Amino acid sequence: MSDPMDKKDPAPTYVPSARDVSAMAGPEPAHVVCPSCHAEIVTQTTHKSNSKTHIYALMLCLACCWPCVCLPYCCTSCRDTVHRCPKCKAFVGVYRR
Ligand SMILES: [Zn+2]
Repeated sequence: MSDPMDKKDPAPTYVPSARDVSAMAGPEPAHVVCPSCHAEIVTQTTHKSNSKTHIYALMLCLACCWPCVCLPYCCTSCRDTVHRCPKCKAFVGVYRR
């Protein structure tokens, strides 16, 4: 009872969900199709502090770099980028650091 097609299972491919744009979008606004209004849009990005931001701040704090403690909160590279649709304001996804 062997399969004449001898078909091998294809390797599992990663299909990013609509809520996970990290595979296709970076910290910059991305050209995507909005999952809510299905319009072709360039995402509007906002930055949100994450736990890493607080850890960086704490480390600067412990290193006695008091004037620098606020840096992780100002520096966008230490924060998550939230992508939203500029038309319907729907949440498109988040790029996590
Ligand atoms: Zn939209």
